[in-house]
Amino acid sequence: MQHAIELALVGPQGPAMADAIGSCVHCGFCLPTCPTYVTGGEEPHSPRGRIFLMKDVLEGTVTLDEALAPIDSCLGCQACVTACPSGVGYGELISAFRAHAEPRRRRPLADRVKRELVARTLPHPRRFRAAAAAGRLAPKAGPLKPMLELLPDVLPKAQPLPASFPAEGERRARVALLAGCAQQVLEPEIGWATLRVLARNGVETVVPRGQGCCGSLAMHTGRTGDARRHARRNLAAFPADVDAVIVNAAGCGSGMREYGLLFAGEADEEAARALAGRVLDVSAFLDELGLVAPPPGEPLRVAYHDACHLAHAQKVREAPQRLLRAAGHEVVVPDEWELCCGSAGTYNVEQPERAAELGRRKAANLNATGADVVAAGNIGCLTQIRQYLDLPVRHTIQILDRAYAGVDAR
Ligand code: SF4
Ligand code: SF4
Repeated sequence: MQHAIELALVGPQGPAMADAIGSCVHCGFCLPTCPTYVTGGEEPHSPRGRIFLMKDVLEGTVTLDEALAPIDSCLGCQACVTACPSGVGYGELISAFRAHAEPRRRRPLADRVKRELVARTLPHPRRFRAAAAAGRLAPKAGPLKPMLELLPDVLPKAQPLPASFPAEGERRARVALLAGCAQQVLEPEIGWATLRVLARNGVETVVPRGQGCCGSLAMHTGRTGDARRHARRNLAAFPADVDAVIVNAAGCGSGMREYGLLFAGEADEEAARALAGRVLDVSAFLDELGLVAPPPGEPLRVAYHDACHLAHAQKVREAPQRLLRAAGHEVVVPDEWELCCGSAGTYNVEQPERAAELGRRKAANLNATGADVVAAGNIGCLTQIRQYLDLPVRHTIQILDRAYAGVDAR
């Protein structure tokens, strides 16, 4: 697509945006995989429609206000990236465009308050725990209602991770783990399962103390300053002398892999790119390392849900399925695997109706597989899918952990 964007006017992320726009050939192959197009059928709410709109805004022929509704309804799921034969970098485009748009738009007061509340609680485990407790006492109404409804009635007790966890037997690798923020509150068991599974595979894990939120939430909602503040903590905290930086939440891993773009033109760009280059999802790491086979247990039918930020953003699809099969399970993939479940960071808060529609649709497809249990690699997906599905829904690493322990994964 030809464009006349003046790169000097749009800042250091301009080239990434212009590249993505320039490589789109309007073929429309991405349309059937886009959840907002599939559910609404309107061209402006498709990847191609949004690319046109962003181009027009950056060229100054359309006002930002005119483009906001379709831009805001995008889940950032990147299913369009998987479908695109021309390699359009839509993920970089939407992140950079939202960062460009945020300081230039006017949000209603209620919207600003809601976003501020989310930004000040979700990335901080203690605040999030306190806010969740307060939210359960208050009536489930108001701007955060959709988010409060996702929370379990009783939050699990805090289970802080240790600073290090030794390998069992001969050490095959040493890694650093991102502890995650919302995940530590909603399901701390996932972090511990990760440590145990890595250990069983001969991997020593360090959990750097100074780390914080990965910054993805801020990055994907255009809050560049917040995102950089979070990311700088991690640049300082994560050591370079490890074999990989392991992440067990797809959204966080995908966000950390975008650190280079986040710091484009900044003094920290090189360090950010170096850290981003060491980030690996735990399933991809274990698959590459070679999984130590768990002892034989009862084989289950596992429906594998592709988290968008694992499948589309990080291109990790086969590794988790191979791990589950190596644990003796049958793996099935639901119809419309590529469609987002509607979780997508804060999408539940920002666009609750569409998020619920996608959640119901995903649950129906998972249910139709006849599975005993659902596996996914992202806490947002687990929380969202559980709302609509009457089946056990677990992180892939929890299923492996149970296989090593000889415990039924249901
Ligand atoms: S990121 Fe997802 S919702 Fe947004 S345009 Fe691409 S496929 Fe559609
Ligand atoms: S598939 Fe790729 S090239 Fe075709 S319209 Fe979609 S983004 Fe553009």
